[in-house]
Amino acid sequence: MPRLDLRKLILGLALLSLVLGLGSALYSAHRVQEDLLIRNTLEANRTYAAKLADTADTFIATIERRLAYASRSLAELMGEPAALQAQARRLQQDTNSFNAVVIVDARGVVQASYPDSLALNGEQLRSEGDGQSLQRREPFVSAPYRSARGRLVVSLSQPIVDGQGRYRGYVAGAIYLQEPNILQNILGLHYYQDGSYLYVVEGQHRLIIYHPELERIGEMVLGNPAIEAVIAGQTGSMRMVNSKGVDMLAGYAPLRRTGWGVVAQRPVHATLTELDLLLRSTVLRTLPLLLASMLIVWALTRVICRPLWQLARQARHMDGMGTAYAAIEKLPAWYFEAFELKRSLLAGLSVLDNKIDRLNRDALTDPLTGLHNRRGMDAALDTWLEDGRGFAIVALDIDHFKHVNDVFGHDVGDSVLREMGALMREHARPTDLLCRPGGEEFSIFMPGTSAAGAREAAERLRRAIADHAFAVAGTVTVSLGVAELEAGDHDLERALKRADRALYQAKKDGRNRTMVAEPG
Ligand code: GH3
Ligand code: MG
Ligand code: MG
Repeated sequence: MPRLDLRKLILGLALLSLVLGLGSALYSAHRVQEDLLIRNTLEANRTYAAKLADTADTFIATIERRLAYASRSLAELMGEPAALQAQARRLQQDTNSFNAVVIVDARGVVQASYPDSLALNGEQLRSEGDGQSLQRREPFVSAPYRSARGRLVVSLSQPIVDGQGRYRGYVAGAIYLQEPNILQNILGLHYYQDGSYLYVVEGQHRLIIYHPELERIGEMVLGNPAIEAVIAGQTGSMRMVNSKGVDMLAGYAPLRRTGWGVVAQRPVHATLTELDLLLRSTVLRTLPLLLASMLIVWALTRVICRPLWQLARQARHMDGMGTAYAAIEKLPAWYFEAFELKRSLLAGLSVLDNKIDRLNRDALTDPLTGLHNRRGMDAALDTWLEDGRGFAIVALDIDHFKHVNDVFGHDVGDSVLREMGALMREHARPTDLLCRPGGEEFSIFMPGTSAAGAREAAERLRRAIADHAFAVAGTVTVSLGVAELEAGDHDLERALKRADRALYQAKKDGRNRTMVAEPG
């Protein structure tokens, strides 16, 4: 027998659908949130990069103006080293924007430099950036280069031109890229506690500012799509895999004056860890609800499955037809399947009941006459004897029946037997027990009747039979023997024998008559 029942199946199904429903809801919520977070982060990074680029642009413009302003007064002071030194110091200290300031004459020899520790005065500068300043003779922001003292720097340089328009040299403010500098301050060292970080590249893909690792400054980064885009002058955002293979959400914006680009980026996984926490707390908060739902489902399955379960159980223990019928009739069946099942069970039961009734009746009845056969007779007499009832016995035998068969055939004999049964039924009282125990012999049992009473009834029957015109056979007579079994007497065998003996006597005495057995 399968161990699964309907209730377990429904419970399983409900659990499955709850889990699947919850799972898919959480999944889609997760996806929506993830998209939103990514979009927001991209947008935040783009805005941040644009803001920083704007700030840096403004800053560079400001200090370029300061340099330009300073350069005008410097032309008059060329050749006065002390005055120039004072100017260099002032420029460095007032602007607080440069790590160092140098004033160089038209030959490339340092006239003044601050801080003093550089000890550059009088030195011929040969670095790339210095060479450019001399050559270009215009304001410009250099690419990163190694300074005379070996530092990685970018410099803002401004030519010094005197009142006659002669080129007298240049003044340059240097920013030490690998040491604390003004750009780092402006571009927000603070912005990476949540996994975000920031870098600035110049036009040749080299890192100028890079949080979090100062060592990478000056490094050339190729194959980073955000850097390519920002160097091409675009502002925007993208999800991309960086040169180290990390999935990133980057926002970027160019600095218009220098051709540099600011990139603000955050690893996707750092962005999404919050989401995982959110999901976990959602699941935790949903659990009690889930449990409550399961409890409700559990209770409901009980209500739903109970009728079917009871029907199944009743059907299984259907031994006593009547009790099973009554029990099933009482079961509640409040929905279609249970109702139909109940109805079918009841219908099946009553059909079965009728069939068994008929089988029982057939087993106890003689099919030819419809009277009790021997089994029916015995069964009925058993209860009479049990009750201790007294009754009269009339044994009846057709006279010369063999002759009827011989003359008219067996079928006519049968129809005589059938008519005989009908006549007996016609003349009997409702309480009489009419039997055909075998052959052409009949017995009638008359409850509460004396031998004398029975004799009269037997005589009436005998005369009626003798007067009856049987189909084909015509006149047929019977002989009868009467005996009485008194109330409380249980010896049926003996009483039957006495009736038989009386019948035998009637035959002997010439047939078509009734004989009463001697009492006792
Ligand atoms: P008696 O007056 O002495 O009783 O003569 P009888 O011919 O009736 O004697 P017997 O008891 O010897 O014969 C009974 C016959 O009844 C024998 C049998 O062929 C016939 N018979 C018994 N049962 C049936 C039956 O069911 N149908 C028919 N047609 N004949 C039957
Ligand atoms: Mg006989
Ligand atoms: Mg006979």
